[in-house]
Amino acid sequence: MKRMWAYSPLPATDLHTHSEFSRCSVDTSVQGNIATAELRGLRAIAITDHSSHVKKTGFRRYIETVRAAAYRADITVLTGLEVDIRPDGEPELGRSLLKKLDIVIGSLHKLPRRGVSLDGYRKTVLTALRKSWMNILAHPTYVNGREVHLPDYTIQEICDIAYENSIAVELNSHHRSPSDDFIKACVDRGVKLTPTSDAHRLRQIGVFDWHLEKLRRLDLLDKVVWLRVEDL
Ligand SMILES: [Zn+2]
Ligand SMILES: [Zn+2]
Repeated sequence: MKRMWAYSPLPATDLHTHSEFSRCSVDTSVQGNIATAELRGLRAIAITDHSSHVKKTGFRRYIETVRAAAYRADITVLTGLEVDIRPDGEPELGRSLLKKLDIVIGSLHKLPRRGVSLDGYRKTVLTALRKSWMNILAHPTYVNGREVHLPDYTIQEICDIAYENSIAVELNSHHRSPSDDFIKACVDRGVKLTPTSDAHRLRQIGVFDWHLEKLRRLDLLDKVVWLRVEDL
């Protein structure tokens, strides 16, 4: 039976979820995520575990597990990774491995110096976007377990370079990021957005109340350009 999608006009896709391959997963799993996505009426889900966690178990096993589950699923299942952005803007993994994936999310989880250095953040993120190795920039205003308050010109630069390189930005309910200013700038610049749960618990998958409410409150719901799975 086809399930109804409860969050129209948001796309029925959740392109950032963690499985048993991420150490921080609470109860998610490749099988469980897909089953939950089907129940929620999602059309597509991506499994995007932390590259640094999957490294320990091995990428081959990971990719084979997700692809086998994708083969059996009734919806589109993308094999992806959440890849750390190194301080020099390069991905933490080699490009040949990234080419094997359907989707790459780039995330800055650490900054070179203690705390949050805005200049370091700016250089690292802009370089990573220019190198164009990711499909989606993850939680842009959340680094090191805290909110990053970016000046307007930095937000503008990030949006310009993301747009030029066809990189989407996620609306991430797990970290409630990006900030309102950042979301507005993306929509103004035409940067594609994608709603994600960044689920570490099954109950978070495809639950987009935060996203819908946020866009309604900002009066942007009918102005967003959404990332489509076909664009990847
Ligand atoms: Zn992350
Ligand atoms: Zn994540």
